[in-house]
Amino acid sequence: MNGALFGIDLGGTKTEGVVLLADGSEALRHRLPTIPGSYAATLTTIKQLVATLEARSGLACQRLGIGIPGSVSPATGLVRNANSTWINGQPFHSDIAAALDRPVRIANDANCLALSEARDGAGAGADPLFAVILGTGVGGGLVIGGRIVVGAHGLGGEWGHVPLAGGAVAGAACFCGRSGCNETWLSGPALLRDHLANGGQSLERVEEVVELARAGDKAASAALARYRERLARALGSIVNIVDPAMIVLGGGVSNLPGLAEDLPGLIARHIFAAPDDRVTIRVVRAHWGDSSGVRGAARLWEAEE
Ligand SMILES: [Zn+2]
Repeated sequence: MNGALFGIDLGGTKTEGVVLLADGSEALRHRLPTIPGSYAATLTTIKQLVATLEARSGLACQRLGIGIPGSVSPATGLVRNANSTWINGQPFHSDIAAALDRPVRIANDANCLALSEARDGAGAGADPLFAVILGTGVGGGLVIGGRIVVGAHGLGGEWGHVPLAGGAVAGAACFCGRSGCNETWLSGPALLRDHLANGGQSLERVEEVVELARAGDKAASAALARYRERLARALGSIVNIVDPAMIVLGGGVSNLPGLAEDLPGLIARHIFAAPDDRVTIRVVRAHWGDSSGVRGAARLWEAEE
């Protein structure tokens, strides 16, 4: 064993790999574009990436951790719940382990984010830690005692597909087959959709809503305020269940100005505590930013030793 940790983050547009050294520093990071729609190409891309990481770092990948959207069903061994839908229903774990001829561990990408941030990121020392990804999709991950809470059926932390707490309307249809999931309110596309549905302009990027709000646009400001309030409600229900010492925000939408700063006050209105209880909700942005997923994937072997 050389002690190096190899991780891969299978994203919708890019597949990223990292080699972490024992001190947490990165020996190498490399990415390849994800070829959407092809399961075979996904396996090939990961194989190529591992070969490149080994060749360029001069280190052997003895075991690999992979973060994926969705998860592997403990009952069937097949991937489910991935918004990169071409890997759903596939025996990805056994296929990639066979293709690489070495042991592989797989976890949900938000779980990897949570593990990375709990280990040496913004939430180091905070226990329990709950982390969320707010991006094209929405997900959550829970780490207690330094370990990912996968749950009895592999569904632990699947916060993105909980119906929005306090949602008075059914909400939009979700790729998962239900409607009104947190993802349909709290993803980047959801924010843009909500802005448009409430009299705002048709926009492509969340940053454009921020720019309009800064320029005094009322519809844009209102859309951002609704977003913050919905996120606070969705996180309030998490506080009442696991009472995290820290909530870590990741994903592109987590960079909304003031979001992490405003949330503690907003969440406080949705939890089962009185002012005398002096509950302090700590909300921070991911220390490792977009790299947290791949760093957590690399740590999937380390966490259980
Ligand atoms: Zn859903």
